[in-house]
Amino acid sequence: MPASVSAYAAASATSPLAPFTIERRDPGPHDVVIDIEYCGICHTDLHLVRNEWTHSRYPIVPGHEIVGRVSAVGSEVRAWKPGERAGVGCFVDSCRTCESCCDGEEQFCLEGMVTTYNGLERGTQKPTYGGYSKRIVVDEHYVLRIPESLDAAQAAPLLCAGITTYSPLKRFGAAPGRRVAILGLGGLGHMAVKFARALGAEVTVLSHSGRKREDALRMGAHEFVVTEDPKTLAKHAARFDLVLDSVSAPHPYGPYLDLLRRDGTMAIVGLPPRPEPLAANSLITNRRRLVGSLIGGIRETQEMLDFSARHGLAADVETIAIAQVNDAYDRLARGDVRYRFVIDLATLT
Ligand code: NAP
Ligand code: ZN
Ligand code: ZN
Repeated sequence: MPASVSAYAAASATSPLAPFTIERRDPGPHDVVIDIEYCGICHTDLHLVRNEWTHSRYPIVPGHEIVGRVSAVGSEVRAWKPGERAGVGCFVDSCRTCESCCDGEEQFCLEGMVTTYNGLERGTQKPTYGGYSKRIVVDEHYVLRIPESLDAAQAAPLLCAGITTYSPLKRFGAAPGRRVAILGLGGLGHMAVKFARALGAEVTVLSHSGRKREDALRMGAHEFVVTEDPKTLAKHAARFDLVLDSVSAPHPYGPYLDLLRRDGTMAIVGLPPRPEPLAANSLITNRRRLVGSLIGGIRETQEMLDFSARHGLAADVETIAIAQVNDAYDRLARGDVRYRFVIDLATLT
């Protein structure tokens, strides 16, 4: 018998999140049952709840920054025991046989990853529901080990904001001797600052106002630049090896590409809801590269969690009760969060 589980869902793009009951499947032989303790609020949750990317399915139970404790395991599971701390990120299944899956890049599964919410289960085609809920059942291959040295609430945002920034920083060369700029100091951006610093790069934060200067420096940035004034930005032209763009709102790419030195790379992780024109000249000059990056595979996510524990890194969080979630969304939309809301699921009864 599938179990009824308390959750919070939005019924439509204009409905607030409200109490809702979902069913979680009985654990199959390879499933892990996780009682959820904390779930981060990613800006993707807001984009999807409000259907800003136009492919939302309702009712929608968001949440893909999940940390909890294993409460039961399937008969074939050897790697997990009840009581252990476990995490779930942005996807819960994939085909496991395609080139991307075999390379440990399940987020690019050729049959499509099954997202933790707003997706459809392989086989049953039932909707997937995320971490704004008391419990989740996930195949062991997609469950992450959260080091016990990390605070559970502060670790939750690593499952999306952490891996989404760690992966492109490593791949595109955040390292000693490299100048890295982080555009947008939000949930993703503040993790990017911490990782870029831990990887040994010289780190600059590009923020649209001066309000986060002290925070940025405290997090490890060497420099802070306000992007509002084009003249200030122009002073930093052709300076950086890597710009990581984590901005959620529509913005032009040209002024930030212009900050790249010869052979520099701008990596986009922010996903604003509308396309942006691009002048070829910004790329041709200095032979610049513009790339995108999508979360990261299971293997790299585990590497990032272990790296975080080794370096004592985690998110700056504001823990909230589930009843505050709609206020938190309004604040997130306004950019009023320092730097990730995390829901304490003990408050969902
Ligand atoms: P967030 O916490 O809301 O941060 C976004 C930041 O963008 C803000 O803190 C703000 O930083 C900056 N910003 C600049 N102009 C803005 C404006 N007009 N309004 C609001 N913010 C503005 O969001 P997040 O959770 O980090 O997510 C950022 C984006 O990445 C979202 O689009 C999300 O969907 C996407 N995302 C992508 C992936 C992926 O795999 N590629 C994974 C997760 C999320 P300043 O105040 O410093 O300017
Ligand atoms: Zn996310
Ligand atoms: Zn695959």
